[in-house]
Amino acid sequence: RPPVSCILPAMSDSFSDMQLAEPLLRAVARQGFERPTPVQGRVIPLALAGRDLLVSAQTGSGKTAAFLLPMMQRFLDRPAPDTGTRALILVPTRELARQIYDHFIQLGSYTRLTAGVVTGGAPLSHQVATLRKNPELLIATPGRLLEHLEKGNAALDELEILVLDEADRMLDMGFSADVLSIIGRCNAQRQSLLFSATLTHQGLRPITERLLREPDVVTIDAPREQHPDIHHQVLLADDSDHKR
Ligand code: AMP
Repeated sequence: RPPVSCILPAMSDSFSDMQLAEPLLRAVARQGFERPTPVQGRVIPLALAGRDLLVSAQTGSGKTAAFLLPMMQRFLDRPAPDTGTRALILVPTRELARQIYDHFIQLGSYTRLTAGVVTGGAPLSHQVATLRKNPELLIATPGRLLEHLEKGNAALDELEILVLDEADRMLDMGFSADVLSIIGRCNAQRQSLLFSATLTHQGLRPITERLLREPDVVTIDAPREQHPDIHHQVLLADDSDHKR
């Protein structure tokens, strides 16, 4: 593999430098986003270059647009109305799925791109109708998506991009086996992006090994910067009594 400095696009501090299509730039401007957040500045150029990424970024960092914009750019660059699901975003909760869907609708308001949501707690039949419409993007929680895959209602063999969002939370909620099973059903030629608040979660390793190929690691919030209002102190005790 060539030295990283030769192949990595630089961090970008302007949306207009990012080779995004005009309808996306218009939507970004309408949202009032003046410049990319740090995670967007790092992730968007790398994702557009087709890299697999392992990203530590918190909610509120702008991570959603960081994975949606390059994905939408790809859909616009290469329209493929007859293929199956082109991108999948796996999330831990239906609330997060809904938020990402809303963000997609905002960013896609000047395009004809479509997305569907498949999460637990909603009727299967309605979701089957959504899947039949063959949206470019699916946003799903693992358990319910697996149910649809097993019933033959959904297929991921033409998938181009797989995103795991809030991967650490997905593991904490017990979705590890479901996530691995879904990864195993995805097109092996896809691009994969994993977002997690922390990259030190013990359960991440089996997932990243199956998911990612030579990923670039993007760390936005170094742990010491995450919680500016937490203070650490070390007190040295000279004996047990003094310690107590
Ligand atoms: P997220 O981390 O994706 O949940 O985004 C947190 C919030 O930041 C959302 O309300 C976004 O609308 C907003 N946001 C995302 N990107 C930008 C940006 N470049 N400039 C200003 N706000 C942004």
